[in-house]
Amino acid sequence: MRKVKSHSSHIGVTLLSSDLSKPKDDLFKHDVVKLILSRRTEEAIEMLADRFMVEVPRIKVGHWKGRKNVLAVYVSQRQTIFVAKSSEMWNPFVILHEFYHHLRSRSGKHRGTEKLADSFAIAFIRAFLDVEYKGTATPTSPP
Ligand SMILES: [Zn+2]
Repeated sequence: MRKVKSHSSHIGVTLLSSDLSKPKDDLFKHDVVKLILSRRTEEAIEMLADRFMVEVPRIKVGHWKGRKNVLAVYVSQRQTIFVAKSSEMWNPFVILHEFYHHLRSRSGKHRGTEKLADSFAIAFIRAFLDVEYKGTATPTSPP
């Protein structure tokens, strides 16, 4: 296993993996998307890595080996997400899609299909919209 720069987590959010009941899971997804939209992508990625118990991937603005026609790419050997433009850093779909490739390449040999990476990202965005617009209960609300 590769050595990875350790990030000291400064997020006050602790979610146990046993707490994956639907509303809490939606809230977790909501919070991840919200952080990305708030330009706190590094924190969102730390939260994701923590939840899925994988190492925190690096994230860089730039192109990887001349692949200039892509918004973003995950490079497994470097555990790095490269985004073409800094504006893509705040795009939850792009970040979550690439995080899925990180997740899959950590847990197995396959980086996962594009379709599954899209579904992973969409599930987060859907949960975000549900919580934002349908007023799903927050932990402090009565049931
Ligand atoms: Zn992909």
